[in-house]
Amino acid sequence: MTVANPLIIERRTRNPEETMDLAAACARCLVDGDVLALDGALGAGKTCFVRGLARGIGLDPRVVSSPTFVICRQHQADDGRVLAHLDAYRLKDDADLDTIGWDELIEQGDAIVAVEWPGRMTASRFPSRTIRIEIDTIGADERLLRFAFPGSIADRFDSIRPRTRPCRTCGKPISSDDATFPFCSERCRLADLHAWFEERHRVSRPIEDGDQG
Ligand code: ADP
Ligand code: MG
Repeated sequence: MTVANPLIIERRTRNPEETMDLAAACARCLVDGDVLALDGALGAGKTCFVRGLARGIGLDPRVVSSPTFVICRQHQADDGRVLAHLDAYRLKDDADLDTIGWDELIEQGDAIVAVEWPGRMTASRFPSRTIRIEIDTIGADERLLRFAFPGSIADRFDSIRPRTRPCRTCGKPISSDDATFPFCSERCRLADLHAWFEERHRVSRPIEDGDQG
């Protein structure tokens, strides 16, 4: 049997809302039984991502909190879908996983399961269908999210890929996540501005009264 390669997607976000939007887009591709392992340092945005997942399945994102003492919380959306949110940080050992009914949760496959601090669990407790997401803090508000979707389910997540467009000035492909989008660099943005000043840009039709706001 050949195992398809995982689909790796990198996305950048510039504020918590963008992370939530990305998570909500991801949630729309999820089905019951999907498992997400969310890695990243404290404050990276794991809980923020789970809030976006909640919104994506129709829940109020505010129901999701950092579970301080409760290791696993389950939230049910109006359409019956369940989001199980696990914070493994305080797990002492695998026996704790039995207490929360981890094996049943995974075997029954009737919930979307999101796990923060998956490194605190024995790796083999995660099914092979697990989606891995690593969040890196780049700056105060900038985050890099690296998704690894198992090849067997990768097709479902095509819409998560960043959009690529040619730079408006030089035509080089540029990701919609980049700060300078729709230009590939600050230099190309300035070059475009110059073109405007030199009136090399043309309006496509005469300006009408209704155009002025
Ligand atoms: P974790 O669960 O990984 O410890 P949280 O989601 O609880 O992290 O907190 C992330 C913090 O980082 C929040 O205070 C949030 O407002 C802030 N933040 C700033 N920029 C971003 C971003 N681009 N994405 C997610 N969170 C961000
Ligand atoms: Mg958290």
